[in-house]
Amino acid sequence: MQGCLFCRIANKEIPADVVYEDEHILAFKDINPVAPVHVLFIPKRHIATLFDIQKGDEPVLGRLHMVAVQVARELGLEERGFRLVANCQEGGGQYVFHVHYHLLAGRDLDWPPG
Ligand code: AMP
Ligand code: ZN
Repeated sequence: MQGCLFCRIANKEIPADVVYEDEHILAFKDINPVAPVHVLFIPKRHIATLFDIQKGDEPVLGRLHMVAVQVARELGLEERGFRLVANCQEGGGQYVFHVHYHLLAGRDLDWPPG
């Protein structure tokens, strides 16, 4: 989608610190990390919010979860754990309207979130 920041990152028009890539998924470090580990996972295809997920998106979103766990394991988080979170709409804290999941780890994570 034209003008979408994460589409532009997926298309390599904007650089990112990529930690994983395949045909359908890209993972890259958050530019403004809020934890020692802060990685974003996106489907390369533009989906604005979780409400815009459609039938047929299951494989890529299922795969995205598998990839997030794989990256977490590679980062040595198996023992300490991590948080995987997706913000939806402004009220959920979503500022970039291209579905993404935050992998957060490396510090104590409060619950409930603020
Ligand atoms: P959200 O608030 O869930 O929409 O999260 C958007 C995230 O994208 C924020 O954590 C930002 O720091 C991050 N972000 C914004 N621009 C970039 C960029 N160019 N590269 C990497 N992460 C970014
Ligand atoms: Zn997009």
